[in-house]
Amino acid sequence: MTLEKQGETLITGFDFYNCDMHFSDKQKALRQEVRDFVETEVTPNINPYWEKAEFPWEIARKIVNLPIIGGPLFEHGAAGLDFVEMGLVMYELGKGDGSISTFYGVHSGLAMGSIGMLGDEEQKARWLPDMVKLEKIGAFALTEPDVGSNAAQVKTTARKSGDGFVLNGAKRWIGNASISDILIIWARDEDSGNFGGFVIEDPGGTEGVAINDIWGKVGKRAVLNADITLDEVFVPKENRLAHVNRFRDMAQVLGVGRYGVAWEAAGVAAGAFELALKYTKAREQFGKPIAGFQLIQQKLVEMATEVTLMQTLCLQLSHLINRGLLNAGTASMAKYNNARKARYVTQLARECLGGNGIIIENHIARLMLDAEIIYTYEGTNEVNLLLVGRELTGLNAFV
Ligand SMILES: Cc1cc2nc3c(=O)[nH]c(=O)nc-3n(C[C@H](O)[C@H](O)[C@H](O)COP(=O)(O)OP(=O)(O)OC[C@H]3O[C@@H](n4cnc5c(N)ncnc54)[C@H](O)[C@@H]3O)c2cc1C
Repeated sequence: MTLEKQGETLITGFDFYNCDMHFSDKQKALRQEVRDFVETEVTPNINPYWEKAEFPWEIARKIVNLPIIGGPLFEHGAAGLDFVEMGLVMYELGKGDGSISTFYGVHSGLAMGSIGMLGDEEQKARWLPDMVKLEKIGAFALTEPDVGSNAAQVKTTARKSGDGFVLNGAKRWIGNASISDILIIWARDEDSGNFGGFVIEDPGGTEGVAINDIWGKVGKRAVLNADITLDEVFVPKENRLAHVNRFRDMAQVLGVGRYGVAWEAAGVAAGAFELALKYTKAREQFGKPIAGFQLIQQKLVEMATEVTLMQTLCLQLSHLINRGLLNAGTASMAKYNNARKARYVTQLARECLGGNGIIIENHIARLMLDAEIIYTYEGTNEVNLLLVGRELTGLNAFV
């Protein structure tokens, strides 16, 4: 038995506590548009790409038809979403597939967000219009082979040279890198020690840049992540993002990213739960639907409760961010909670399907493994926990 054969829409909209009552008609209409896209374009088509670890251009290109690129940015044709809308978009994409939500999050959130929040007017006008149309794809390169959680200590360097800078170093795990046209490298200035963002245009054709995709990932397989080496790479001075000198400047982008990832994790969990609910109502053993057994109901209630808690946490976080009240503690608490709960919920969902739970055509196994990645990126769970701890106690447990 597969979920497709039940002849029902796969993904609906579980909302036990009626969070909907807080959303405007405009917000709901946007959510519906993204949900329709996921149901018609993503869910029916993503599995072969995930299995082959191939980037789904066929699906990704169609995102341009949705009014969501650029998220909360509003200049140069960007979507100008409010933060509730941005959250709902990440939730719906996450419900469908974690690779698509990551492609969108890296391009629209991390890369366009860096330019929109930290670039000057000339830089925004130069890069954002093509990125809005997906004619240029963005990537955000912070992590390095030797620098992960301690991202502020990046070893990649920028040396002043003539009319620009020369970059040297290495980056790891960089999403969209091998398909990128706008690659943002975060590095330290060799002389001043300042932190900066340097935009490499057309990295594939730039001397000294080597980009190699990382193979063998067990989650988010349909989005590409790469190792990068930078060997005496020249970047013109006008490509240094104008409003970044400290790690803290860039961390604003990560804060908004963490907000989006908290919604994404809630979406992944909700997607798995909804699929498990449908399956258990249809699957019969011992002469009745397995949803009628107490032990299955325990799993369903556990999942429904966790999803509801994630939804309500995201909702309140959206009110905080809309009012400019998001801080490191509140963003990290939501990411910390939702990432680990997404892992838990997707595992329960997979259990409910028995053997069918490990088959990709039933989607839950893919969501379960995508949740593994969410647990680690945008700050590992431990790092987000410690950020909340620092906020609560005023004491830094990192070092
Ligand atoms: C699929 C994927 C996509 C990614 N995309 C991007 C991207 O687009 N751009 C980008 O820049 N990066 C990206 N990353 C990198 C990601 O942000 C890092 O993997 C993450 O920050 C953790 O770094 P690390 O993997 O080096 O782990 P490490 O930092 O080596 O951590 C290993 C373990 O040690 C723990 N640990 C580390 N320090 C402490 C401490 N002080 N106290 C307690 N525990 C600690 C960690 O929590 C973790 O459990 C991506 C990663 C993945 C897996």
